Amino acid sequence: MSAPLISAYLISVGILLMAAAHAAILARGSGHSHTNWSFAAICLGFAGFQFFNAMQYSAPDQASALAAHRWVNLFSIVVIPLIALAAASLDTRKRPLRIFVWLAALAGLAVCYNFLSPFGYRFYALDPDQVLTLPWGEHLRIIQGQPSLVYRLTRLVSLIVMIYTMGIALSLMRMKERLSSTLIWTGLVIMLLTTGLASMSDSGVITMPYLGGFGFVFMAGAFSILVRKEMLARELQEKLITRALAKEVQGRRKADARANQLLHHDALTGLPNRAGFFLRLESLLELNHQQGTKIAVVLFDIDRLGGVKGTHGLATSDEVLRRLSQRLSGRIRDSDVLARTRSDGFALIASHIKTDAGIGVFCEKLAGSFEEPFEIEGTQFKLTASSGMAIYPDDAATASELLAAAELALHDAKNAGTNQMRTFRPALKEDFRQRIDLESALREALGKRQFFLCYQPQVCATSGRTLSMEALIRWQHPEYGLVSPQDFIPLAEASGLIIHIGGWVIHTACAQLAAWRKAGHDSLRMAVNLSAAQLLDPYLEETLLGALARTGLQPADLELEITESVLIQDPERTVERFAALRNLGLRLSIDDFGTGYSSLSYLRILPVQAFKLDRSFVDGMDKDETSREICASAIRLAKNLKLDIVAEGVETEEQAHQLRKLDCPIFQGYLFSRPLNAEAAGQYLQNNHHPLHVMPVMQFGQTPAVS
Ligand code: C2E
Ligand code: CA
Ligand code: CA
Repeated sequence: MSAPLISAYLISVGILLMAAAHAAILARGSGHSHTNWSFAAICLGFAGFQFFNAMQYSAPDQASALAAHRWVNLFSIVVIPLIALAAASLDTRKRPLRIFVWLAALAGLAVCYNFLSPFGYRFYALDPDQVLTLPWGEHLRIIQGQPSLVYRLTRLVSLIVMIYTMGIALSLMRMKERLSSTLIWTGLVIMLLTTGLASMSDSGVITMPYLGGFGFVFMAGAFSILVRKEMLARELQEKLITRALAKEVQGRRKADARANQLLHHDALTGLPNRAGFFLRLESLLELNHQQGTKIAVVLFDIDRLGGVKGTHGLATSDEVLRRLSQRLSGRIRDSDVLARTRSDGFALIASHIKTDAGIGVFCEKLAGSFEEPFEIEGTQFKLTASSGMAIYPDDAATASELLAAAELALHDAKNAGTNQMRTFRPALKEDFRQRIDLESALREALGKRQFFLCYQPQVCATSGRTLSMEALIRWQHPEYGLVSPQDFIPLAEASGLIIHIGGWVIHTACAQLAAWRKAGHDSLRMAVNLSAAQLLDPYLEETLLGALARTGLQPADLELEITESVLIQDPERTVERFAALRNLGLRLSIDDFGTGYSSLSYLRILPVQAFKLDRSFVDGMDKDETSREICASAIRLAKNLKLDIVAEGVETEEQAHQLRKLDCPIFQGYLFSRPLNAEAAGQYLQNNHHPLHVMPVMQFGQTPAVS
């Protein structure tokens, strides 16, 4: 190679350009973008410096060497503020940009002076043209002369910048920043050394080329390596953080899903619970609204699941629910939603229904699901369900309104008995509102003394003597008038008020009987109606014994009428409760006999004294053979079991005649007396000493006291 040093200069230009490009690439998206950008600029500055050095050293004469020398000067001035800028960008305390602006202004002045003065900014005067021959024979055109004041000042400024840069490097080292390293220190030392040498060369102490650029090439390389290292470390850290975050997110998602499952699903069946159901319903409403299709919500409660719970335990009733949920799940479409929203039942959403015919098909499918019996641990369970349905958008516009509508329909179905299906109709809302009003009025009725009792005699079929009085409650409301027990007793039962109301009936009836006993009706008994809820009340015995004790009556003076239907709900428990009451010495009778379809085996073991043949059979006696047959066999059965039997609702002489022929011992009905208020009943008792005396028939509601 004929000019190795010139070549080295040119190679260093290439390296510096690459370093500039590298720093520019790093600058984008890096945390040190200012440092990188200023570093790229410094690299360009030194590349220019090196290039024009090469131009100067290889110039053919002093004039062209001086021209290149002015450019060398330009780049050597330009890099000073750039180095200050780079150092300032690493200064974590503050960004002394103002210093950079001052330096840039001074550099601008120096550059102008460089191009305006005859020998560039370094020299007042030039030494004669000088060609330096290097040991390997390479010739370099050196420019030396008398250093100018501007040059000396510039040197001073660059020295200050160097010291400042070193100060920054030192502080970075203290802060353990990765950028500070021996490489940078080495670079700085080399630069200081080469700058010192350049000064000596300029002033003619020694004759040598400017090597400052090479010092910077070293620094540029070191800087690039360090920045790259820093970037790699950051990348690695970022990757680790991203991975940890992803893990965290995944974990959180899993926990969320678990919480969601618990929050929105029923533990027993795994079906959505009320909250889950509501969420699904809301999103389906939106979807069907957009597509103009219908949604059917069906709520259903298994009839008498409480009975299964009572007789076979909670585990069995849970198993029934689980099996039923599986059966139902198998019969609905994938798009339908089955949920467990109630303790004794389920809720279903069928969506995307285009016609009302589609709804019909859906309901039939549901009804079929209950027909097949279940077998659990050897016991067959044949269930029925009451269901209520509401349709979107026909019946309601929102999820909660739709649910409320379906709830009302279900309520309606349950009121109609068991195994009933009802669809929502607007009138239900009004009915329900009335019910609510009635219920709140009922709550106040006892305190406001709005109840009173009527008494209906039960007479001996042969002598016409009054054997017993049945206490029948009446509610005289200031606004609703005289309310029939048929209207408010079910409401009292549903709301639990029946316990208090029933207690009042027991006390009042006992007090009345005691009064009649005092008036001379020694063998008269009192019959009181007891509802299923009262029968299960653990304080019932206490109430009964309390009333008897207070009025001085014997347990045998009181008869409790309990309807046959309680037997179906929970036969074993009913038998148990009957036995407990019987043990107290009370008389018990089965009311509405023949309507409950209870099995004869249960009736045989019930510790009762009497049956009350339902008035529907008595009413049918003179009309159809079946009723007559039922009356006959009921009376026969009572006789066989050595029990009394009371024929209810005897209205005509003909009925009384027929019943007498069948040997029925006791009659009750309008033929003898309507239910009478206490006073009228007392009057009746006074007059009723004659056999087969028939009281004049009074109309229900004729006077507030008589019903
Ligand atoms: P129940 O126990 O079967 O009472 C007999 C009902 O039949 C009474 O209706 C009575 O007025 C009516 N009745 C009596 N004789 C005749 C007749 O010859 N023809 C017709 N058509 N009806 C007759 P009421 O008083 O309206 O009572 C209805 C039901 O309300 C009772 O039926 C009973 O189940 C219930 N109830 C009445 N008072 C009480 C009470 O204090 N407690 C409870 N838990 N239920 C009561
Ligand atoms: Ca009764
Ligand atoms: Ca009855």
